Amino acid sequence: MEEWVEQLQNSVNTLESLKSYINVTPEEEEAITTLNTKWGTTPYFVSLMDPDDPNCPIRMQVVPSLKEKENRYGIPNYLIWKENRDTDEVRPDSIARQYHDRIAFTVTDVCANYCRHCFRKELVVDRDLKLRMDVDEGIEWIREHEEIRDVLITGGDPFILSDDKIEYIIRKLREIDHLEMIRFGTRTPIVLPHRITEGLQKVLSPYHKIPIWINTQCNHAKEITDKTGKAVFDLLKCGVNVGNQAVLLKGINDDVESFRALHQKLLTVRIRPYYVFYCEPAPGMDHFRTPVEKGAELIRDAIRGHTTGLAQPMYVVATNIGKIPLIPDYYIMDKTDQEYTLKNYQGKLTKWPNIPE
Ligand SMILES: *Cc1c(COP(=O)(O)O)cnc(C)c1O
Ligand code: SF4
Repeated sequence: MEEWVEQLQNSVNTLESLKSYINVTPEEEEAITTLNTKWGTTPYFVSLMDPDDPNCPIRMQVVPSLKEKENRYGIPNYLIWKENRDTDEVRPDSIARQYHDRIAFTVTDVCANYCRHCFRKELVVDRDLKLRMDVDEGIEWIREHEEIRDVLITGGDPFILSDDKIEYIIRKLREIDHLEMIRFGTRTPIVLPHRITEGLQKVLSPYHKIPIWINTQCNHAKEITDKTGKAVFDLLKCGVNVGNQAVLLKGINDDVESFRALHQKLLTVRIRPYYVFYCEPAPGMDHFRTPVEKGAELIRDAIRGHTTGLAQPMYVVATNIGKIPLIPDYYIMDKTDQEYTLKNYQGKLTKWPNIPE
């Protein structure tokens, strides 16, 4: 059996199996036994947890918490609202649309890791939202919509599908004349790097003019290992670029040190930071949410100028009308007809000519 399949079959999703890796606290145990929620991860990802610290950043993303019962800010039926499913345009369940030229294509509701902060919680974790995920129906809709040039394949985690199924989706999409790129959103390079097998590499690697791009999700430097580095390198060898979409999470990466370390470490394994998302107002995750300004402040205080621009993600809130970048202008201190006064990351000022149109 392939190692990645073995990892999934041995998923750590019972109290007993979790106890064989970490010292479960009474609060964690109560959450696991009383909350009716899907949870669990791979033996590999669990092995990265601190066995004694309930505030371990990996543990907090994986082990259910009693705080999930609190819900002051979560929007009910969040995913229906957020993914614009309640509109006049009739679309298959698998197609979420916010933009003219691109869509998100949901092909599975299964994941290798059930993130406690997942904005698709209602579909993936709580499982009270049922969607029909018919791949052929989705592909047919894309074929009929010539304005779509970019398909983002998502889930769940699409890399949970077999090599054959992934190959089929890619092949069918590449037969559509108006498509210019195919993207996958998958957490496997982080939570199940074993998934990037030679078989999958064969599926991804043949040259084709329609490129494949991947975005993964890594929220803390601790999630990155030599295995991550190898998996990303193998993807790059296939001509597949790998970016990161982090979620800003209170107590996990919302301090300057963790935020900078995360983005620097991503580059050491060749992952290019793409987005940092504000933690969305899905139900039951109030405890992960910071003030909205926090992400922009962290980019100012931890990244810009403090380290290479390659490490810099864009901070966005992902709303029902698309992703909205929050980039307050911390740098223009003054502007006259003649010149700007600009401030750098150290607080030093400089002048720059203002050129009239
Ligand atoms: C995030 C998202 C996209 C892709 O957005 P990019 O900014 O191009 O990465 C497309 N459609 C939906 C519905 C999305 O949520
Ligand atoms: S891997 Fe993605 S879809 Fe799956 S639970 Fe985590 S955030 Fe949600």
